[in-house]
This record gives sequence, structure tokens and C-alpha cells, in this order.
Amino acid sequence: MSSQPIRVAYIAGYGRSGSTVLDIALGQHPAVMGSGEIAALTRHVWVQNEYCACGSPIRDCPCWNEACEQWWRGLGSNFVLDYSLLQRKFEGLSMLARSSSGIGLGRPFGQYSIHTKRLFDTILSRSNKQVLVDSSKLPGRAIALAEIPGIDLRVIHLVRDGRGVAWSLLKSYERDARSGLQKEIKPKSAIRTALRWSAVNLAVEYLSRRKGPAAVMRVRYEDFASEPASTMQQIGSFLELDLSQIGSSLQIGGSMEPGHQVAGNRLRMSGSIALKKDDSWRTRMPPGQRVAFERLSGWMLKRYGYL
Ligand SMILES: [Zn+2]
Repeated sequence: MSSQPIRVAYIAGYGRSGSTVLDIALGQHPAVMGSGEIAALTRHVWVQNEYCACGSPIRDCPCWNEACEQWWRGLGSNFVLDYSLLQRKFEGLSMLARSSSGIGLGRPFGQYSIHTKRLFDTILSRSNKQVLVDSSKLPGRAIALAEIPGIDLRVIHLVRDGRGVAWSLLKSYERDARSGLQKEIKPKSAIRTALRWSAVNLAVEYLSRRKGPAAVMRVRYEDFASEPASTMQQIGSFLELDLSQIGSSLQIGGSMEPGHQVAGNRLRMSGSIALKKDDSWRTRMPPGQRVAFERLSGWMLKRYGYL
């Protein structure tokens, strides 16, 4: 195990904001392991043997199967369940209160820290990469990772216009495990999305205020999609990586191959991905839903320059 701090690029924000595409884009760099939503590995992916972005069920994926075996070797047959209980405790929004008061971190958090860092170490050393991308999105997990000694955490706060997010969540999808949808997705109201979108983004801002600009950078998905060259350059200087080649390729419409993103948006299963700016909500979102979103979260839209 290395004594150097582990560099983790964590993508935080609300769902349907482009985190999987950004994860895959970063993973195009030879020193970067784009790992997808690592939090989901022990929460449900392993137990339900869900599909990795490489197209194999996780237990058949050469990358994750061996990394997991190495990770929990000697830790007992209940490890996955025990660890996922620690995740429940420390990756929720209650982590805001815990980290600001320092109360409730104690021994269980020590266990959570050791196991989490060990997983990151294992993934990086097996893949022979230097930077790990974790696009779990959860702000509570970002706050937890920021408390773990030996992790050099850089958080990319990815924001997308909440109306686009709400429009995306108004649609329903049938379950289709092989193409990356583990369960049926029911439509969510714009009011629900407005409240959650605002809360999650505010929680990431809390981390940003605590840790400062060297640890947290904000990226708007719309800027990434329309100006990938300059956005990747900014992300590159934040992560201390040269991402200019990837940015230039995306700028001219180049496609990307997913790696072993363990969980995330179903588009990771589509083999080859191009970056696109999806603003279909502007013409297709029902006006009543749009107004409801703006009434509740207009102030947040303004904050990010969308109104
Ligand atoms: Zn895989």
C-alpha cells in the first residue's frame, strides 16, 4: 500500500446532471481510473450482480471481481453488508452535522475510513493509475471522504440547470438490467426534484465553504457540453492533469469508450459516447411543471446563472 495520499476526483451533485459522461471523459486520460458510482458497489451492485460498463455482470468483470476479492480478503463473509451499513451511517446528509460538530465520528468512522481507503488503494494499484474518479454524486459521501486521512480529495461540483434535471425525471422507464437500468423508473414531480436538487447542491456548497477552492471546483454541465476544450482545461488545472487532448477531441465531436464504471447512468452501457447538450426541456417540458420548479428553486437557478 502506498504512503502517498490517494488522489480522488469526486463528482458531486444531483442525478441526471452529466456525472457519468464526465467520469468517462476523465477516464480517457491514461493516468486516470474512471470508476463510476463506487458507493453503489457495496450498496447493491455486488449483491445483485449488476452490470459493469464493460458489459459484464460485476462478478464476471475482470477489473471489479479481482479488486473486490482483494479488498475484502480475510474480512469475513458479512463484510459487504457491514460496510454498506457504515455507508448508510456516514454517506447521508446527516454527515453535514457530524462533520461540523465532530460528534458521532468515533470508532465506526475509523472502520469506514480504513475500508474505503483500502478499496481506493486496491483499485489504483491494480489498474496502475494515479487518480481515481468516483462519481457517486452524494454530497454526504464527499464530506465523509474529506475526513479520511491519506485521501487527497478534489471535488468537482457538477451542476446542471434544474429544469433540465426535472424534465429528465418526469419521464418513466421500464427495467432493463443489461442496458443499465436495474429497476423501473417512475416519473418524479418537478416539485420533488426542485426541493432535492436545491438541497443536494446546497450541501455541496457547504463542503466548498469548509474546504475552499483548492478542494472544490464548480462546473456547469452546459459549459462542459458546449465548451469541452476550455472546461477540460480548467478541470485539468484543478486536478493537476493535462486534459487538453481529451477536451480538444470532445470539442470536435469525438466519441469516448467507457471503462469499468461500476454504476451510473445507463448511457455508460452504450459502448461509445459523444458529449451532447440536451436542452429538450426548453421546448418539451410542460409549462406547469416548469413554473412549479422556478417558483421553488428560482433563487438557486439564479445562483448558478440559469435565470
Ligand atoms: Zn468491467
